[in-house]
Amino acid sequence: MKKSITFWKRLIIAGIILFIIVPVTGLVLLAMENARLKHEIEANPPNGDDAISVGTNSYDAASIVRKHPLLSYQLLYPELSANFTGFNDDLVDPKTIFLTFDDGPSTSTPAILDVLKNQGIKATFFVNGKSSLFATSWLRRIAKEGHTIGMHSYTHQYPLIYESVGNFIEDLNKNYLYVKNITGISPTILRFPGGSINTYNLKLYQSLCAEVLRRGFIYCDWNVSAGDTLKDATSDSMIENVINGVKLCWGPAFVLMHDNGNNELVQALPRIIEKLKAEGYSFGALDNTVRPPMFVYPEG
Ligand SMILES: [Zn+2]
Repeated sequence: MKKSITFWKRLIIAGIILFIIVPVTGLVLLAMENARLKHEIEANPPNGDDAISVGTNSYDAASIVRKHPLLSYQLLYPELSANFTGFNDDLVDPKTIFLTFDDGPSTSTPAILDVLKNQGIKATFFVNGKSSLFATSWLRRIAKEGHTIGMHSYTHQYPLIYESVGNFIEDLNKNYLYVKNITGISPTILRFPGGSINTYNLKLYQSLCAEVLRRGFIYCDWNVSAGDTLKDATSDSMIENVINGVKLCWGPAFVLMHDNGNNELVQALPRIIEKLKAEGYSFGALDNTVRPPMFVYPEG
């Protein structure tokens, strides 16, 4: 009996310690820490409107920018920029298809342009730096016929352009001047070779994307691929890939194709356009008011 009373006494004391003394002690300690932090902040007031106070550290964002000048690649070619004023989602019908051709101009360019003209539609060409007389005349024709010219790469050499952000900007500037000098058009959009995230730029892609956006350019990945550069690709496989891919899109389709001398694609193109027109789709050329697909950064 006595043993039982002692047990209950101990249990009650343990309960008091657990449910009253521990929380009260915790609250007192928190109040003391709060008072200490308040005193510290009052003793070290933030410096200006742009100062931010975090815990026991306070820092002045403007002074950080003053102390740490621009990254070296941000200083390259300050004129390499575009005026981005925002996306206009209301203007893009969800059943719009943006056909895009990478890597031109090429021997396919005239035939692709003929198909687009016959079908009465506009498209987008992300071009490389090719300086032959033929290439420059095809580039002028793309511009003259009202299609959009975006930048792809001057050299298209992945190991070189993805070695550093500086190398990429160097190449982009050449590509920008190539388009501007030949057509008089200052391009505002680009497509990264291999897409914004690829095996060559895994260490750089966040800086690359940030830098082109900082300069006002918009980059466009894709949500449908014709698979025209795959080994054994045929006109039929390209048609199937595009038609099936477009059906999976919730909104506008951005179709990756190549202007690279592949006759199978030239053969497939009118059939792709006719099939999609028959299903109620319309076609458009990109500009920097169209919100493009951008690959999502992988986690971790
Ligand atoms: Zn390419």
